[in-house]
Amino acid sequence: MKENDYDALIAGTGPAGLTAALYGQRMGLRTVVFGDLPGGSTYMIENLANFPGLMPETSGTQFGTMTFQQVSQEGAHFTMSLVESLQVTNGDGGRRRFMVRDAAGKEYTAPAAIIATGRTPKQLAVGNAQMRGVHFCSICDGPLYRGKEAVLAVVGGGNPAAQHALTLARIAREVFLVCRSANPGMDDAHKRQLAGQPNVTLMTGTEVVGLQGKDLLEALVVKTVDGGTKDIPVEGMFQAIGWNPNTGFLDMAVDATAEGYLKTDASLMTSCPGLFAAGDVRETDMWQVLTSCADGARAAKHVVDYLADS
Ligand SMILES: Cc1cc2nc3c(=O)[nH]c(=O)nc-3n(C[C@H](O)[C@H](O)[C@H](O)COP(=O)(O)OP(=O)(O)OC[C@H]3O[C@@H](n4cnc5c(N)ncnc54)[C@H](O)[C@@H]3O)c2cc1C
Repeated sequence: MKENDYDALIAGTGPAGLTAALYGQRMGLRTVVFGDLPGGSTYMIENLANFPGLMPETSGTQFGTMTFQQVSQEGAHFTMSLVESLQVTNGDGGRRRFMVRDAAGKEYTAPAAIIATGRTPKQLAVGNAQMRGVHFCSICDGPLYRGKEAVLAVVGGGNPAAQHALTLARIAREVFLVCRSANPGMDDAHKRQLAGQPNVTLMTGTEVVGLQGKDLLEALVVKTVDGGTKDIPVEGMFQAIGWNPNTGFLDMAVDATAEGYLKTDASLMTSCPGLFAAGDVRETDMWQVLTSCADGARAAKHVVDYLADS
């Protein structure tokens, strides 16, 4: 076997990619995994909810570290380097192979590949959203405001926005949860938790249309339900307004939704034979650690079946 030639290339070190490597290795595949953080997006989770058997005080970082160690012990090879490009090539004897070029410029090949690269949060389309005080992750950046009696805002209306607000409520004097929709998409459990937080104000039907401040955020400019605008002075703003699936490295045409999520069949194979997708990056109806792990396990199983049949 050639150096850097594997049975499966796995892009992403989040729950989906790590579980795909775990199951793949245990089913006899030689896997190589590309990515940055052990555990992927789970580093943003302060208390990992909805994972059977894990106590709620388990953090996403603990989960990611433990899973990474578990998969390493099974012999998966980690490059800790991102995929720069993934393309289909013709290998020896004209057999179809996938080739990854990673950020270090190294090339890796395999007859199958699993995309498990998750999704990246969207940014507000306001001019100066790069200034200090603008954030995405309350777990990572919330502690910057500890002990400062800060007034903070979270923008968004889904469960991640609610979680950010709950995390920040323990740090800040006041938190505004600014939601464009009149009916926030968060589940009832989050609504109940927010209602129990006296220092969180949910502002529905309110849209952020601008930011005040030069290098440092000073206030949100919002459009209110009655059509007027007003400033809300804040020291920090956390965005939770949607996602872009991470697929920009794909050097081939693969069927995707209008938002860019990869479409898969019942075996999690994309429209490109031998290319599978797992976790948040694929078209699905739940974006959770558990469902991403399940996807990773199933994708590995279907890679084994695919290789046996081809
Ligand atoms: C604030 C917050 C709280 C959450 N709380 C919970 C919770 O309590 N319970 C729960 O079940 N879920 C929760 N989630 C959702 C959960 O984190 C995701 O559903 C899960 O991490 C998705 O796993 P994944 O492996 O598909 O993708 P990810 O975890 O996003 O991992 C994908 C990885 O691929 C990497 N990547 C991107 N591009 C490339 C590339 N070119 N090459 C290689 N790697 C690449 C990314 O950097 C990332 O590390 C939360 C999410 C957020 C943001």
